[in-house]
Amino acid sequence: MLRVQVRRHIPLLHYMVASYSVTNIQKPLQNVHYTKLFINNEWHNAVSGRTFPTVDPSTGKIIAHVAEADKADVDLAVEAAKHAFKLGSPWRRMDASQRGQLLNRLADLIERDRVYLASLETLDNGKPFSVSYQLDVGETIKIYRYFAGFADKLHGKTIPMDGNYFCYTRHEPVGVCGQIIPWNFPLIMQCWKLAPALATGNTVVMKVAEQTPLSALYIASLIREAGFPPGVVNILTGYGPTAGAAIARHMNVDKVAFTGSTNVGHLIQQEAGESNLKRVTLELGGKSPCIVLADADLENAVQQCHEALFFNMGQCCAAGSRTYVEESIYHEFLERTVEKAKARKVGNPFELDTEHGPQIDKKQFDKVLSYVQSGKKEGAKLMCGGERFGDEGFFIKPTVFADVQDNMRIAKEEIFGPVQLILKFRKIDEVIERANNTRYGLAAGIFTKDLDRAMHLTQALQAGTVWVNTYNIIASQTPFGGYKESGNGRELGEDGLKAYTEVKSVIIKVPEKNS
Ligand code: NAD
Ligand code: MG
Repeated sequence: MLRVQVRRHIPLLHYMVASYSVTNIQKPLQNVHYTKLFINNEWHNAVSGRTFPTVDPSTGKIIAHVAEADKADVDLAVEAAKHAFKLGSPWRRMDASQRGQLLNRLADLIERDRVYLASLETLDNGKPFSVSYQLDVGETIKIYRYFAGFADKLHGKTIPMDGNYFCYTRHEPVGVCGQIIPWNFPLIMQCWKLAPALATGNTVVMKVAEQTPLSALYIASLIREAGFPPGVVNILTGYGPTAGAAIARHMNVDKVAFTGSTNVGHLIQQEAGESNLKRVTLELGGKSPCIVLADADLENAVQQCHEALFFNMGQCCAAGSRTYVEESIYHEFLERTVEKAKARKVGNPFELDTEHGPQIDKKQFDKVLSYVQSGKKEGAKLMCGGERFGDEGFFIKPTVFADVQDNMRIAKEEIFGPVQLILKFRKIDEVIERANNTRYGLAAGIFTKDLDRAMHLTQALQAGTVWVNTYNIIASQTPFGGYKESGNGRELGEDGLKAYTEVKSVIIKVPEKNS
């Protein structure tokens, strides 16, 4: 997955969008095409008639008003998804290879509209256009294609069981899948959930984040254009406690997949327990450690730890948000880290060399700045940033705190913003214990040239992904998810399919002898 390399790709980007000046990249955005609910391959107003605004975080201005779904709309969408899943429906009768072809066609259409989609993503979310284009839309295309390939390769087993029986297993779709996604990677979060669900033959009711509804609705239009039968995919825009909760507690939703905050993850699990025990997968928050040993390639470690935190303005579940540095290199590491943070290019996300855009909304902006105040109050040393950038939108300057202690709030809670924390350690065993001493366990980074120590750390750290001498490398082929309160289940890779299938054992009596 492309991340730190984004800058290197900018010349290519110039070439690829050469026929669109930056002004033209923004032009289609004067015309946001889709703002209604997508149910049964049709566009609907909310039953209540209500709408809500979505905002451009780089200016704070409203882009468009979109339909506000609540329980009544969830009921309609679930009904459509249930109907589309019925035995004998076009979707259930479709050859598995054809499901794969539809997903590939969707990927082709996304590729066709790549510039538009990247623009929409940047407008609604604030992330730099170069990142939206290269990474968000690029990965989205790859992920739909990756799972398209799996559609006709979901093999069961034949099992030599005891007794005179023939046993085989079938991997069947779970049914109606509710999916609730966040705003930090709208297109990518959508495809992480849609692609495996569709490859395995489920139907879907998805609620997208209220902060970033636009690219998901555009994808809905491409889903229809690709030729998916009505009701297979239903996309709702609306708020969590209303539309989201209605999905989580719906009696006809067979599985719910959620990505977002750990607190809401607890609620989703509870709703499932109190309704129909629907299957639950959760991809939640983190407080992931980066551990830099004294023998590491320092330049690489500084660069990777910088991107580990500041990529996507710190709004990553896997953000490397506790940087543990071995005592003997602490000062040099800190000096270079602060230099890098100060040099990060903040500004208009549509400018192609911008690395750092705004936070998603006023709420997150205020929350991040309140953590900065808390850090200062608890005695951490503010080395740079810590304040807003510019006079409009929700920009925060890249911020670095030194001399952070494990018991400070900033070191314990997920900030989800551009605040890098540098902590000192002396011994490997000490840092392992400190790194693991958290409710989270999503990811970790290790920086060292010593293979033995790297191996020791990869095994000792409680995290769903451990990166060595790199960070944030996530690809369609590699499972991703959390230990502890960072989640439940895995997305991506072959493991990502498990949550979308039920395994059925078929056991047939074999006659004792030929009759
Ligand atoms: P959130 O968990 O409130 O929202 C994520 C999604 O869940 C959204 O679609 C939202 O509408 C929905 N939701 C909210 N309440 C719900 C409920 N009661 N029932 C069902 N669905 C519900 O996250 P947020 O408020 O957008 O961001 C707050 C914090 O969440 C961030 O500071 C960060 O810590 C974390 N977060 C994590 C990720 C991630 O990738 N793991 C992504 C976004 C936010
Ligand atoms: Mg928005």
